[in-house]
Amino acid sequence: MVYIVEINGSKYYACSICRSLFVSEEMAKACEEYCSKNPGSKSPESTRDSIGFINPEGEPQKVYFRVAPLKGCTKTVFRLCRAGVNIYSSC
Ligand SMILES: [Zn+2]
Repeated sequence: MVYIVEINGSKYYACSICRSLFVSEEMAKACEEYCSKNPGSKSPESTRDSIGFINPEGEPQKVYFRVAPLKGCTKTVFRLCRAGVNIYSSC
């Protein structure tokens, strides 16, 4: 079951296995299916389409958004979302 992530009234969706964050539920479900069949590895699609990742167990719950790599910086940077975050499982 994918996670639903609410931030300031906007909804995002996250894979419950690798915790990658997506803009659509379909992408999160596809990632979850891949993750359940290929434990420990990430699909190239979800790596490309993911907009960040979540930490639902944290107190408070946290969401990190991917930031476009700066010029000359090859590593992806993540920025912590400081808005009110509500993460829950769909069922
Ligand atoms: Zn996944």
